[in-house]
Amino acid sequence: MNTKVGVFLGLGANLGDRRATLRAAVRRIREVAADVRVSSLYESAPWGVTDQPAFLNAVARGFTDLPPLELLEAMQSIEGELGRLPGTRWGPRAIDIDILLYGAESIDQPRLVVPHPYMTQRGFVLRPLADLAAGLTLPDGSLVGELLTTVDQSDLRRVEGPEWAE
Ligand code: AMP
Repeated sequence: MNTKVGVFLGLGANLGDRRATLRAAVRRIREVAADVRVSSLYESAPWGVTDQPAFLNAVARGFTDLPPLELLEAMQSIEGELGRLPGTRWGPRAIDIDILLYGAESIDQPRLVVPHPYMTQRGFVLRPLADLAAGLTLPDGSLVGELLTTVDQSDLRRVEGPEWAE
């Protein structure tokens, strides 16, 4: 019998029709994961390079048969498929999909580090993650809801409830 693993995916878009791209990503994620639920949709000011459009962010949770590296490849092929804006064949990516959590596993491989290394420092990850699983414990024992209280959320704005992906 196949046992599916619960995974959390971080979604971000800052180019083109960001919401439409995220909706298309969720449709594609539903092809490789069962019982997919999404967080509310958040807008966050860009960090690092600030002269670029704001990001829309969300987190999706689902259950998959795919082993970790196959899940990564599936997400990268969705990024490739959706990330090409008309007229910019190899232009900037319109979508980023990160594997935040893969069951309770800690993975440290050249191509895949899980939990995603920066997730505990980013409000735009923790806030939507907490929508879905505030009581979730990470492999290191930290609690999502408690981590959320330690990060800056001042640049984060909830723009739509979880119905955005329907
Ligand atoms: P980025 O440009 O931020 O999307 O990073 C993509 C690179 O990060 C890819 O080469 C992946 O192999 C690597 N990577 C490592 N850990 C993860 C993860 N948890 N989720 C997604 N990509 C990852």
